[in-house]
Amino acid sequence: MPLTGIEIFKLLPKTNCGECGVPTCLAFAMSLAAGKAELSACPHISEEAKSKLSEAAAPPILPVTIGVGDRALKVGGETVMFRHEKRFENPPGFAILISDTMEQAEVDSRLERFKQLQYERVGLTLRPELIAVKDDSGDTAKFEALVNKVKQNSDANIILMSTNADVLAAGLNACADRKPLLYAAVEANIDRMADLAKESSCPLAVKASNVEELAQMTTRLTEAGVKDIVLDSGSRTVRQAFEDQVVIRGAALNKKFRPLGFPTIVFPAEMTDNPMKEAVIAAMFIAKYGGIIVLSDFQGESLFPLLVERMNLYTDPQRPLATTEGIYEINSPDENSPVLITSNFSLTYFIVSGELENSKVPSWLLVKDTEGLSVMTAWAAGKFSADIIGPFVKKCSVSDKIKHHKLIIPGYIAAESGGLEEELPGWEIMVGPREGAHIPAYLKAWQV
Ligand code: SF4
Repeated sequence: MPLTGIEIFKLLPKTNCGECGVPTCLAFAMSLAAGKAELSACPHISEEAKSKLSEAAAPPILPVTIGVGDRALKVGGETVMFRHEKRFENPPGFAILISDTMEQAEVDSRLERFKQLQYERVGLTLRPELIAVKDDSGDTAKFEALVNKVKQNSDANIILMSTNADVLAAGLNACADRKPLLYAAVEANIDRMADLAKESSCPLAVKASNVEELAQMTTRLTEAGVKDIVLDSGSRTVRQAFEDQVVIRGAALNKKFRPLGFPTIVFPAEMTDNPMKEAVIAAMFIAKYGGIIVLSDFQGESLFPLLVERMNLYTDPQRPLATTEGIYEINSPDENSPVLITSNFSLTYFIVSGELENSKVPSWLLVKDTEGLSVMTAWAAGKFSADIIGPFVKKCSVSDKIKHHKLIIPGYIAAESGGLEEELPGWEIMVGPREGAHIPAYLKAWQV
């Protein structure tokens, strides 16, 4: 049973030093009990107290890692129902299905799509993480050969899908070193699957026919010593599957009900034959609350928006993606090149720098730390005004790199141009376009 806030408080140093980010040990204990703080935030807890608090400190939805190395996928570890309460922790993984009854050409093209479908956006690489290898043939050798092929031809994390423990064991034989997710323990095979998971130290998915049965099965598995569990409530209608996700998340977070405190796996692939509808269902599960989302196939037109949605929802709302403050050289600028300034919201930076690159005009781009806020928001918040930009332009020493003194500011902060002329005597302040897309045309007229 998780500890209460008062029980946790008794184990804390009670010095109220505030180093954990809240003013008192009691406040920290309450946050810890609510799953809204991490034990590591207090540097003064004794080892003894740490071990006693480990259960209370564990997130109400335990994290599960699939795979090894840099590409390993961590799911679960969530502490809130809604993103605005704190943040969502670990983005759901996307899996493409490959069946052992598919033609080799189809298998090859799916492996190729898995490799090719990745996108650069705001400095991040967006890509799927998993291949779900499914046993439809019941043929042990065929399944093992397919798993081998997937392992040899991709760096994907693997889900082994079969309810036949012998077939699953054969697949595991081919890729145990990649720590695949074993899918799935069902009522008929639960003991054998538990043994396989323990012997291989691989996470195990459990599939039930409803949420109540799911809780009973995870209790059996944890009692048998299986720690890394992924939940499948078994529902394959959109409405019931959605309801199950909300019930599972709510029971784990609000009731601290440990048998449902694990990440989930969902199958839009098994809820419709319509690819667009499948993408819409997947989009729903990104928000509510899929841990792993298995798709029947990957197509760029549906995968890309799903990846972007995932990135947006799993960005910490209190810490926007930000670029490092500094001077950025675009297209090898020289002493005659224009100087532009923008905020350090990553999306802003990548749009502006992308447009500058497209313009082919060598340029200096000054990026001011606005705590990750966009130009307009930063300006409205007083973080991108003349009295802040002026000292930054002086401090960054861009004037050592150029022989003119012209600064192009975003059109949205045109009102700051007067103030900037006072802050930067001798500089000509030029008002650039409001939209990044208009930068290339604007720069065509650039002259020192
Ligand atoms: Fe108490 Fe530790 Fe927080 Fe200091 S850092 S106030 S000792 S909980």
